[in-house]
This record gives sequence, structure tokens and C-alpha cells, in this order.
Amino acid sequence: MRGRLALWLRAQWEAGVFQTRADISMFVLNTVLVTITLATAGYLMATAILANFGLLPNPFAAALGFDTPTTVLVAASVSALIAWLLGMAVHEMALSRAELERLSRLDSLSGLLNRRAFIADMAEKKVNGFFVLFDVDRFKLVNDTHGQAVGDAVIVAVADELERVFAAPHLVGRVGGEEFAVFIENDDRGDCSLLVEEARRSVAARRVAGAKGPVTVTLSAGIADRAQGRSFEAIFEAADRALYLAKSLGRDRTIHEDEGEGLLEPSRRVAAGGRRR
Ligand code: GH3
Ligand code: MG
Ligand code: MG
Repeated sequence: MRGRLALWLRAQWEAGVFQTRADISMFVLNTVLVTITLATAGYLMATAILANFGLLPNPFAAALGFDTPTTVLVAASVSALIAWLLGMAVHEMALSRAELERLSRLDSLSGLLNRRAFIADMAEKKVNGFFVLFDVDRFKLVNDTHGQAVGDAVIVAVADELERVFAAPHLVGRVGGEEFAVFIENDDRGDCSLLVEEARRSVAARRVAGAKGPVTVTLSAGIADRAQGRSFEAIFEAADRALYLAKSLGRDRTIHEDEGEGLLEPSRRVAAGGRRR
């Protein structure tokens, strides 16, 4: 019995049946109606059988007139209480599950989507657009000069700016220590460039308080096309190579994947061919 109840509770919880208090009230009402029907039928049958064998302590009419409403009242109250308690328990479990699911998708420092959630959400968007990898320039220097806490504050500030510039329907995630991914849900290359440059400008203009004065950082960006049929790995790698080029060319700039190695002097092309990580 306990096992079946646990199974039932789990099924309701997973189906998200008790999302609101109105759902719980409906469940209570249904339970009470079913219980009243069953209790009344059972009571009437038992009374009729006892009366048939002359075992009723009271006359049949009196038993029906007084005891039936009592039976209905008791059945209704007990079943309503139990149904309400069960409904509330499942409701609370559903709420904590939803909160856990929400938290498991977020990066705890920046509040942005984490890498796994970003990839999942981008996979759900079946549209063309642009994938951008941003990396904070010389971030290690910020940590070394101002300390880890200021470094963390810089990551939060960069996340803030990216979230503001790339508001929905675009996606923003933190996919590495000081590395951010953006999916731009717009396949116009000019619009994409404007947004990326706005993000880089606003990050560069942002000041974060440091022990030795305000800290500013710049971003390098690599852009790859997101076209249907192209795997996430291929898109990521193309953006990563473009980002590496941006770094090699002096940082604080944006490179699109098709700008290619023509931008590099011959001596630097070999290094840029490999992955950064
Ligand atoms: P580049 O311009 O080539 O990107 O140089 P960089 O210094 O930014 O790159 P590098 O990969 O050498 O250093 C990244 C640093 O980011 C190293 C690591 O300690 C730091 N970092 C990674 N995650 C965090 C974090 O969550 N908080 C802080 N404060 N630092 C972090
Ligand atoms: Mg960096
Ligand atoms: Mg990096």
C-alpha cells in the first residue's frame, strides 16, 4: 500500500499535476465526491443486508434518515483533509523540483546559463543565426593585480553587459572561466556585428571597483555562422579559431570565421591553426 502510494505521488509529481492551488482544490473536490459516493453506497448496502437479517439495532428508516448524512459528513471531512494534505505535499515537491532544475541550469557566479544549459537551449532553437565566443583579454592580470574577488566582480559585470545587450530571444551563457557564449537569433550579418560591437564597447566602458582603483577590461570575440545541419561542435570550433585569431592579432577585436588566416602574418599562421585548449 505504501509502495503504491509512493508510486502514485511520484507519478503526480512528475506529471506536474499539482502546479497551483486551484489544481489541489479540484483534486480535493473530486476525491470528496468519489468518497461520498462510495461511502454512501457501501453504507446503504451494509444497512440493507443487516436489516434483511434483522440485525439492525434501530429501525431501517431511522438508520437511513440519521446515519446516512453522518456517514457522508465524516467521509467528506476525512477524505478532504487527506486529499488536501497529499495535494499540498506533491505541490511542495513540484516547487522544489522546479527550483532545483532552474538552479542546475545556471552558473552560480554570473547567473547566466551554464555550458550544458546553453548548448541544450541553442539546440532547441532551430533557426539560423550567429554563434559568438567572447573571452576577457588578459584576465589573469586582473586576478594577479587586484585579487580573485575583483576578478569575480569583473566576470559578473561582463555577464551583466552581455545579458543586457543580448536580451531574449538571444542566448547568453558562461562556458568557461572568463569565456562567454552567445547565440544571436538573427541571420543578418550586419545586425550581428552591431550587437557584438555594442557588447564589446559597453564592457570596455564598464568600471569595476578594485583595491588599486577602477578596473576595466576588453573582450575579444570569434563569430561563426549557425546554419541548419552544422553540428554544435563544428560551430564552436570555428568560433574558437576566429577568437584565437582575434587574440593573435592583438586582442580587443572581433573576427568572423570567414575572415580567416589571411589576416595573419605567415609566421603566426601555424600557431593559429591549432586549438587554444
Ligand atoms: P587572454 O587575453 O589570452 O585570454 O589571457 P587571459 O589572461 O585572459 O587568459 P588565461 O587563460 O591565461 O587566464 C584566464 C584566467 O582566468 C586564469 C584563471 O585563473 C582565471 N579564472 C577562471 N575562472 C575564474 C573565476 O571564476 N574567477 C576568477 N576570479 N578568475 C577565474
Ligand atoms: Mg582571457
Ligand atoms: Mg579564456
